[in-house]
Amino acid sequence: MRSSSHDTGPASVSADARRRRPVAAQVDVDYSPSLQTIRRIEELRADGLPIVSAYVPVVPGGEGRKLLRSETDSLLHQIRPIANDRELDHAVRLSLRGDIDRIGELVENGSFKAGTLAIFSASGAGIFEAIGLPRAVRERITVDATAAIRPMTAVLDEYHRCCAVLVDRETAFAWELYLGEVLEAGALPGAGRRGLGHAVNERRNDHRAEELEKRHFREVATALDELFRMRGYDVLVVGGHEDELPRFVAQLSRPLRERVVGTFPADDDSMKAVAARGHAEAILHDFELSEHRRMVAEVLASAAAGGQAAVGLEPCLWAGSVRAVQALFVDEGASSPGVVCDESRWFALSAEVCPVCGRETRRVPDVINDLIEAVIEDGGSIHHVDGDAGLGERLAAASLHFELPPAPEGTIGT
Ligand SMILES: [Zn+2]
Repeated sequence: MRSSSHDTGPASVSADARRRRPVAAQVDVDYSPSLQTIRRIEELRADGLPIVSAYVPVVPGGEGRKLLRSETDSLLHQIRPIANDRELDHAVRLSLRGDIDRIGELVENGSFKAGTLAIFSASGAGIFEAIGLPRAVRERITVDATAAIRPMTAVLDEYHRCCAVLVDRETAFAWELYLGEVLEAGALPGAGRRGLGHAVNERRNDHRAEELEKRHFREVATALDELFRMRGYDVLVVGGHEDELPRFVAQLSRPLRERVVGTFPADDDSMKAVAARGHAEAILHDFELSEHRRMVAEVLASAAAGGQAAVGLEPCLWAGSVRAVQALFVDEGASSPGVVCDESRWFALSAEVCPVCGRETRRVPDVINDLIEAVIEDGGSIHHVDGDAGLGERLAAASLHFELPPAPEGTIGT
């Protein structure tokens, strides 16, 4: 009987089904959210019901799993009093209780990639969205009329949405590269026209082959225009046979051609999907690094010219304290202990008391994290940059909304 229970006869199937424990409605975590998904969350309204937004960091490994559960528990605990508040509408309380259950279930039953889970729920209105972010942001939970999307968009804005297309004179295949994920966008329309191969092979009919190739490339280019519009891509990577590539790129619309950040030659071997993806990912990485180099160089030059910029960790902490940061560049691997004043939201590397309000400061293991959270809260952008992006020993630099007032005495060692 042991092995026969795996037989596929109708009797054993229903027995299996009975044995299976009822599972909570499964929600897939979206690790590569489309522009539409982001907009949908941005515009979520729940007919007068509250929307719960929860951010929970996910650390890999068994310990991380425990941590995720306990952090989710304590977040949900924060909103339980609201769910039990008899002053509130019954429907509101019911919806919140549904949110608490559903978020708890998701975390209990799922397994997640490292980074942060961003969950938006209004159970009474049938709303439940789970987005997987590739970076850790601080855990938090809010109950409001709209979704708290700022921490999510701050992370997403760090990444480029890239379309990679592999094209030859008969086929075309596209992928989406985003947040370190690779999604197949599939074969593009215009690919695999019947009879084309035949025509191409007819040497005496070269002109006809050229025409067919051109038509195919044009159709693929049109399909790409549509794909860009639908998915909101930022950049394009194109792979193909070296002799055909320029002819294909020439068929792209101008806006699309301007978004080509790299091409890679593909022989018949690397026309295979895996190799093509590797090429495309390397090109995207190089592009992001060169973008970071350019932006960091701009900030450094601006600072050198006495412009609105802060260079180095201490000036950046001061800039964050006065809400001056427009864009913050931090070394990907940098971390530094420091102090925070919770009263005046003041940051520094060290100080017993806050020079702004005179209260005792709180020591934190990594003040850069606190600075990043503050900049996100203020609507600034964050860029984690590689060690070779030009920051060097400076660890942090920022472009500013306004010129910094003088720092409190003794806080910035020069
Ligand atoms: Zn203070």
